[in-house]
Amino acid sequence: MEEKQIDVMSLFGCDVFNDAVMQERLPRKVYHELKRTIEEGSDLSQEVADVVAHEMKEWAIEKGATHFSHWFQPLTGVTAEKHDAFITAPRDNGKILMSFSGKELIKGEPDASSFPSGGLRATFEARGYTAWDCTSPAFVRHDAAGGILCIPTAFCSYTGEALDQKTPLLRSMQAISTQAVRLLRLFGNQTVRKVTPNVGAEQEYFLIDKEKWMQRKDLIYTGRTLFGAMPPKGQEMDDHYLGTIRQRISAYMKEVNEECWRLGITAKTQHNEVAPAQHELAVIYEAANLAADHNQMMMRILKKVASRHGLRCLLHEKPFAGVNGSGKHNNWSLATDTGVNLLDPGKTPHENLQFLLILTCILKAVDEHADLLRESASDVGNDHRLGGSEAPPAVISVFLGEQLEDVLEQMIETGTATHSKKRERLDTGVKTLPDFMKDVTDRNRTSPFAFTGNKFEFRMVGSRDSISSCNVVLNTIVAEAFREACDELEKAEDFDLALHDMIKRYAARHQRIVFNGNGYAPEWAEEAERRGLVSLPSMVDAIPALTTEKSVAMFESFGVFNRTELVSRSEIRYDLYAKAINIEAKTMIDMTAKQIIPAVIRYTTVLADSINAVKAAGVMEVGVQQDLLKKTSRYLKQANAACTRLGKLVSQYSEYPAGRERALFCRRRMVPAMEELRAPVDALEMIVDKEMWPMPSYGDLIFEV
Ligand code: ADP
Ligand code: MG
Repeated sequence: MEEKQIDVMSLFGCDVFNDAVMQERLPRKVYHELKRTIEEGSDLSQEVADVVAHEMKEWAIEKGATHFSHWFQPLTGVTAEKHDAFITAPRDNGKILMSFSGKELIKGEPDASSFPSGGLRATFEARGYTAWDCTSPAFVRHDAAGGILCIPTAFCSYTGEALDQKTPLLRSMQAISTQAVRLLRLFGNQTVRKVTPNVGAEQEYFLIDKEKWMQRKDLIYTGRTLFGAMPPKGQEMDDHYLGTIRQRISAYMKEVNEECWRLGITAKTQHNEVAPAQHELAVIYEAANLAADHNQMMMRILKKVASRHGLRCLLHEKPFAGVNGSGKHNNWSLATDTGVNLLDPGKTPHENLQFLLILTCILKAVDEHADLLRESASDVGNDHRLGGSEAPPAVISVFLGEQLEDVLEQMIETGTATHSKKRERLDTGVKTLPDFMKDVTDRNRTSPFAFTGNKFEFRMVGSRDSISSCNVVLNTIVAEAFREACDELEKAEDFDLALHDMIKRYAARHQRIVFNGNGYAPEWAEEAERRGLVSLPSMVDAIPALTTEKSVAMFESFGVFNRTELVSRSEIRYDLYAKAINIEAKTMIDMTAKQIIPAVIRYTTVLADSINAVKAAGVMEVGVQQDLLKKTSRYLKQANAACTRLGKLVSQYSEYPAGRERALFCRRRMVPAMEELRAPVDALEMIVDKEMWPMPSYGDLIFEV
């Protein structure tokens, strides 16, 4: 097969209205004004917007666009858009023009009433606005709909309440920038004007055959399998992780990369993951809002390209019980506009007091708001993953590594640190290995929040989830810790003394959150409890963290969320949880009643017929068939009873008031009832003739892609 050469350099960003395009196409003055808005947040005048819109439209049409769309991220977990053609009303001669105004670029007005608003709608108008986030470039997306000029926007209600993921993220980025700059001033830095949280997301996903996917109602309706016995082989051989990528998958990945690159998404690292049929794609880090937008775009590309290859991409956190689920590692750091990573400890962390202050502020933030961080990663699907010895436990702790832990211990003991342990890797004698290679160890893979050299990696986020919420929380809690530190240090008479004292105090007080051991070990759960760390096993347990007085006060003080927004968000989350569980329960009932029970009855009939036929032939030895028949009938009875019980619960569902009560009912009653139904059905799958089982097995799904 002849390979078509791709020129990655010219492909990259070719469908993005990026800085190079703007510089080339916009009049100088307009370009500089827009840049000022992008970089400093200054207001954009109507004239400038009109010129930008015009050029953007001309460019988009050259790229094949016929429509534009304000592209936003409501609280449904997916993105939303409405396409408007560029055409104007026909003129007298019957011809149309292609037009796009500054007003259309800056502001849109989708009807907000059909998006989740968690009660905001009852109090406020249904009207909603989308507003252009000019810090995230517009792009032309090509698919079956043709070319669409997509304009990344924030989505707010008539009264300014955020109805989306992006608005609070942008607000939190402002908050942390302000406080971080303040902190840097204390260390004599007068040049930095802005600090940006940088994020690199690593996305895990499953690929399965589309034909097989279509035969499983559970996958279609809920994104995960609700039944399924383990095949003889699972992931125990560890032969999939980083294994050779099969050709069918490679062809898929190649197209995913190309589509990502066209849209300026830095698809960088791809590999097979731990579970069979599981893969990962990581991008290069960038400003948090861009990373969030790009991750959404990437998830869409992963799905779209899959269908072209006869595949189906599963982004659910736990598509298959018994094999690893999928997550999304959120790598987070802080960079100044002068290009310095504030989380870089340097070679001798013990001397780097600015770093140690930042580090201990982060420890403080994570310790004080562990519940919020946990909440930010909660998702119906993630409940199956966290704490299952495959992903971080549901308890938040921080991995620092030996070197930093040692430096902090010195600080705690004596108020100063005098030395930094050499990195382990250097001690092996392989001097040429760069430092950052060191922290890829098995040990810290179990930590939910791990320091990995010059960034923190938050590993709890679910594969399907937006990375916005966790970054909103990270940015805001760290902004709060910085603010408290600055409030105190700015007043100090002796800065050095106060600084040492603060690092020592913070390190000692929040040491309990540091854990370098195995987070999967059962002893850790006990130890965490002894340390008084919060454990929130389920999404339903985590949601209240959003609306504690502590959270409300913090978010309001930075203008990231007001109380109304937080209450509405928690309502939306309860609702989301309950609806998802209810759909799962109904799907299980449907599959049991219409597919599984009839198949099992057919099988028992075959067994009974065979017993009779064998006996009629004069052979009285039918013990095996009879045992099988008895066993099958027993499980059948159990499955039928469990299905009836689940059906009763489903009929009670709407008797519980929407919100927390209904979510709790789902969590406490429906989830266990679903497990009770699954057990006998999975047992039946192991017995019943494969030819007669009404859907593809786990083995078919994950080993035969
Ligand atoms: P690791 O081996 O620790 O997983 P990698 O270098 O493979 O680290 O990076 C994993 C992810 O972390 C990538 O998405 C990468 O872009 C991102 N990343 C690397 N450095 C930073 C940083 N300073 N800030 C945020 N993300 C980063
Ligand atoms: Mg990693």
